[in-house]
Order: sequence, then C-alpha cells, then structure tokens
Amino acid sequence: MQILNLINGKLQPAHKGAWLENIEPATGLVYSQIPDSDASDIDQAVLAAQAAFVGWAETDPETRSACLERLADLIDRDAEALAADESRDNGKPLSLAREIDIPRAALNFRFFASAIQHFSSESHARPGYLNYTLREPLGVGACISPWNLPLYLLTWKIAPALAAGNTVVAKASEVTPLTAYRLSELAIEAGLPAGVLNIVHGSGAQAGDALTRHPLVKAVSFTGSTRTGAEIQRVTAGQFKKLSLEMGGKNAALIFADCDYSDMLETVLRSSFANQGQICLCTSRLLVERSIYERFCQDFVARVRELKVGDPHLPETQQGAVVSAQHQQKILSCIQTARQEGAEILCGGQAIQVPGRCEQGYFVGPTVVSGPGPQSQTNQAEIFGPVVSIQPFDLDSEALDLANATNYGLAASLWTNDQRRVQAFSRSLAAGIVWVNCWMVRDLRTPFGGVKDSGLGREGGWEALRFWTQSKNVCIAD
Ligand code: NAD
Repeated sequence: MQILNLINGKLQPAHKGAWLENIEPATGLVYSQIPDSDASDIDQAVLAAQAAFVGWAETDPETRSACLERLADLIDRDAEALAADESRDNGKPLSLAREIDIPRAALNFRFFASAIQHFSSESHARPGYLNYTLREPLGVGACISPWNLPLYLLTWKIAPALAAGNTVVAKASEVTPLTAYRLSELAIEAGLPAGVLNIVHGSGAQAGDALTRHPLVKAVSFTGSTRTGAEIQRVTAGQFKKLSLEMGGKNAALIFADCDYSDMLETVLRSSFANQGQICLCTSRLLVERSIYERFCQDFVARVRELKVGDPHLPETQQGAVVSAQHQQKILSCIQTARQEGAEILCGGQAIQVPGRCEQGYFVGPTVVSGPGPQSQTNQAEIFGPVVSIQPFDLDSEALDLANATNYGLAASLWTNDQRRVQAFSRSLAAGIVWVNCWMVRDLRTPFGGVKDSGLGREGGWEALRFWTQSKNVCIAD
C-alpha cells in the first residue's frame, strides 16, 4: 500500500520517488510506504496553499463552516474504517480509537465550523472616533503533529486554521501517517478547493524542517517533543512567524487521604496507562499522602496487574502495542535507568510477547516504580510510555514542591475534597491545566497548553481562532 501526498487537490508521490517504510507496531511488519518528501515537495505544497489563500480567506464564514461540516460528516461515515486504520498504524486498542480518536477528529471540525460563525472582534467608541478591530487570517499555516493521537491532534490544528480563513500545509508524524492520508481522500471528496489543505508526508528532519523554514509559512502550530519544539523555535528565529508549541510533560497526580478513594483509583489507573501511557496528559508521577501510601500502592499495583495487554483488535485488550521498536527500546531503557537509580519495580518492568499474529509486536508490561527521588531521571525525564512512579509526601507544601520539581508544566491532577486546598494548589501548581477529582475531561472551549518546557501559546476555543488570525485596528473620525 502506498500513501500519497495531497498537494493542490491531487494525490501524488514525492518528487524524487523516495519512500519510507511504515510498520504496524502490533506485528512489527511493514505494511505501507509513505512519500519521503523533501524541500521541493514542501515548496510545491506551500505555493499551492499561497495561491489558494486569497480565495479561501474571502469566502464567508458560513461557506468555510459548511466545508468543515462536510469533512466531519465523511469522518463519521467512515468512522469504523478510520478507527481500524488508526489502531493498526499506532498500536492502540481498536476500542480506544473507536471511542476517542475518531469521534474527536470529527468533533474538531464541527466545533470550529460552529465557532467561526460566533467569532467576533472588538470595537471601542469614544467621542469623535470609532475604533474597530479586524481579525484577519494569516496566510499559509504549517500544522505539525505527533504519533500518539494521530488524526485527533492533526484535525485539532487544521480545523481552526481553515475555519479562520488560512490555508494549510500539514505534516503528520511519519510514524503514523495513515489516517492523515485518509483525511486527504476525504478532503477531496468533501470538495475543499484545491490548495486549501495540503498534507505532505515525510521525516521531521527533512519535510518538517523545510516546512517550518519556508518563508511563505506565516505560522507554525506544532505538537510533539520539547526537543523538536526548541528546534523549530531556533530555526524560525528572526522570521517572525507565529508559533504555537505544545510539547512534552511529566504530569503529577496529587493524591490526598481525604479524596474519594475508589473514584481516584479508577481514574488514576486510566490517567497512567490510557493509550499505553502515550498521551501528553497522562500522569507519570503519583504523589501520595503518606497515611494512604501503603494502601494505595497495594490496590494500584493489583489493578495494574489486571490490565490486559494484547492484540489491539481484540475487544478485551486494554493495553495495545507501543508505537515503534525504537520507542519500546526507549521505554525499556528508562526502566533500566530506574533500576540503576535504586527504584523498586512494583510490577511490569519488561517487554511482553503476545502470542499469535502479534508475536513480533512492540509490547511493554504496564510498569509501576517507587523509590527514586524527585531529581532522578525517572522523575525528571519524559518516558511517554506505560511507566508511572509513586512518591509519598507528608505535608501539602511537600506535595506542591514535588509536583513543581520538573522542567515540564503541562497538566496536574488533584485528588482531595478540601476546597481550600483545591484553591491554593490550583493557584500554585506550575501547569497549564489542573484537573480536580477528574482527568482528561476535555471541553473544546477551554484553553489548552503548558508552561515551562511544556508549551508556548494555547490551543482550543477562542485561543485557537486568535492564534490563527491577526488583529488590525481601524480608527475612524466622526
Ligand atoms: P516529535 O517531536 O519527534 O515529532 C512530532 C512531529 O514533529 C512529527 O510530525 C515529526 O516528523 C516532526 N518533526 C520532527 N523533527 C522536526 C523538525 N526538525 N522540524 C519540524 N518538524 C519536525 O514528537 P513525537 O515523538 O512524534 O511525539 C511525542 C511527543 O509529543 C511527546 O514529547 C509528547 O509529550 C508530545 N505531545 C505533546 C502534546 C501536547 O499537547 N502538549 C500532545 C501529544 C504529544
């Protein structure tokens, strides 16, 4: 199977005819090829997007909205096939792709199809003068997404960019390109004008780099690792592009003795291991008040041991494959580091071989570690896999210091019924998102993003539409 680029309304291979292999993580087998695009493919896509910009920017919001709604309808129509593709390409359980990834991709388009019709700008009247502010699209936007929630995160970027009247060149992760390709086919079927949405495949170092550097690209919306985010900021310095960088995390769950214990246990299990721990919002550090520490460790580990690791296609599977052989090796080496740092491995700690068709797949047993201190690599570096650490604390102040003791600051969750504590911690936690007695409840109107090394800028709701527009103030004398 050959995946193709979408450039100027046409599906095509890379100019040089070079291909990269695409592997199914659950089986370890190559099952498709993707274009190994380079700067010339990117240039063609950006020029197509630039040519389409004027026409698209001048359409009224209702027309753009209708286009996005048509795309959402097609995603809903093909939801089952898209879920199967996403599961195959990423290794995630089919049930998860069906329940979360694909419905959310359709919702991303519907949300911004509606939002753009309600988006407004300010006016400031004063005696003798009226100021009003226009919000104009930027031009060509680059949307670059990672492999963990492939279609979900790609559409989260494309939808507001297009809704606001920009044209887009998107680059999905080379590790999980399949549903982006399906989206290309659906964009043609939905009748999106040629050049409005271009999707180019290839490596980050070649295609991604050429895209972010391109002088006609006015904004880059990136989700991925902090290392790549820093590189994008470096190579675009001096070009004055708008940047939105959603990056890594090392999220803490702060668990107090007064919480609703069984709710907490269920949710923390999910927040630690959903999508094999490969969600930027997953909790990777569990901070537990000492009076319930022993009980929590016992109950939590018992529940983790019950998680069913297996073929992503089976309905009973709760943990699928991790995304690649390289990522599996990275996770296993982090577990090895934890051992060297004196951690106790409470469960998991190794690769798992799933018999049958998944024998050669990349599976890691859900792993819980305790012991290494807050400054250890285990508690500092992002692992982005099914590995979670537990640390005890005695005082609120100690819990806060532990939670904030990393360079990351994406999300935190707080488990307590003490409202004063909720208020105090919500103010003091260095994170862009705080969940209280819940996790990953996503309301698309809310600002989304991190602080410190986790992010620059915010996505979601008006934040996204403001990112994808620039204001122009007009002042008129009476
Ligand atoms: P990555 O940074 O390796 O790649 C992300 C994307 O950037 C890919 O499409 C890749 O091809 C591209 N890329 C790589 N090098 C590039 C370059 N030099 N120039 C331009 N583009 C380049 O990240 P990944 O391994 O795909 O994803 C995992 C990371 O994503 C984790 O760190 C995770 O925390 C993060 N993430 C963050 C969020 C968030 O919202 N904050 C959400 C999901 C994932």
